[in-house]
Amino acid sequence: MPKQWPRSAQAYTEAVQLMPGGVNSPVRAFRAVGMTPPFIARGDGSRIYDIDGYEYIDYVGSWGPLILGHRHPEVVAALEKTLKEMGTSFGAPTELENELAKMITQAVPSIEMVRLVNSGTEATMSAIRVARAFTGREKIVKFAGCYHGHADYFLIQAGSGALTFGVPTSPGVPAGTASNSLVARYNDLESVEKIFQQVGEEIAAVIVEPVAGNMGCVPPRPGFLEGLREITRKYGALLIFDEVMTGFRVAYGGAQEVYRVQPDLTCLGKIIGGGLPVGAYGGRRDIMEQVAPSGPVYQAGTLSGNPLAVTAGLITLKILQHPGVYEALEEKGALLEKGLREKAYDVGLKVSINRVGSMFTVFFTSCEVVDYETALTSDVDRFARYFRSMLEQGIYLPPSQFEAAFISLAHTTQDVEKTIAAAALAFKAVL
Ligand code: PMP
Repeated sequence: MPKQWPRSAQAYTEAVQLMPGGVNSPVRAFRAVGMTPPFIARGDGSRIYDIDGYEYIDYVGSWGPLILGHRHPEVVAALEKTLKEMGTSFGAPTELENELAKMITQAVPSIEMVRLVNSGTEATMSAIRVARAFTGREKIVKFAGCYHGHADYFLIQAGSGALTFGVPTSPGVPAGTASNSLVARYNDLESVEKIFQQVGEEIAAVIVEPVAGNMGCVPPRPGFLEGLREITRKYGALLIFDEVMTGFRVAYGGAQEVYRVQPDLTCLGKIIGGGLPVGAYGGRRDIMEQVAPSGPVYQAGTLSGNPLAVTAGLITLKILQHPGVYEALEEKGALLEKGLREKAYDVGLKVSINRVGSMFTVFFTSCEVVDYETALTSDVDRFARYFRSMLEQGIYLPPSQFEAAFISLAHTTQDVEKTIAAAALAFKAVL
């Protein structure tokens, strides 16, 4: 008997009358997997529960922040303490902010100075503004398939050519804005070189996800990030790592620790807010000192550095400092990857699995996925069938082929084994 979601269906019917697509962020509507979404009632550790009473092992983790799982007791206790003893918001400095800023700058040595904001989008937008002001240049380079939030100049993707100059892909993005965003190919330094040879003196910054997560998980090829560092340095452009997803995820010090490349600016979000709304951008002191009020580049926020959000971030980072944490994530990731590969192989299904630590994607293609174009070779109908079978079996994955799934410290070996067993059936359902 397939699962039925009568209460969620009813809630969704109401929601679509009230909010565009019934949601407050598009992918939540489950359009890519041909169904309407279960509404969530609560979370606990590695599990979430919907309002129809079904339980799932959750591999979304609120899209990355919940590396400790849902309602981690220490996070809950810390939040209760701040709420009871302090309050919700002041719009004035607090010692908590010093503490989080200290933890971030200590974790990520390229961040000498940091500014807290409320989302990843704000972090990337602000980093670009600072980069433009600092260099006195307007153009930026981004990569097809990378997502940096929803600011106008990021909503650009490549055409079918190796690189495309500024084609807006969302209506509402002014053509003039789009023309300043140049799109290169992920893992393809030549595409970057070409842009720099043409307009290198006009480029303020290259922004990149050092491990891409927003076209599914796509690791950088050896030399790619180093190459970006060299090219930007040569032309006097800044290198911005968007570590909103990878920061404190692939290692405590983020992707820059793993790949040993130092950007000029780094954007953070997700994990540093422990499940509450936070973002941050930071980097070289001489660049960050351009930000108001120490410099002329304006950027502000009513709720920036909010005590509750900072509290959740602080306790999360403290727990991530425990020895063996990232080893445990890697171990679970490796176990899951191996199991998924074996089950796909057993039924003769061609998949391409990318994983960096606790971030992973199963692509339904035989092609090695190294960039946007190869990601697009995935069979999204097969993905949808896989997704629905997994959901039926109580495994909650990101509802799109082009998203990374996340393992948390709350996932147990049994959770992983259960997931592998479910995948064995789901892979069969795909064929
Ligand atoms: N950058 C990256 C790499 C992201 O993954 C995201 C969100 N998925 C963002 C920026 C935007 O963050 P937010 O949704 O918090 O605005």
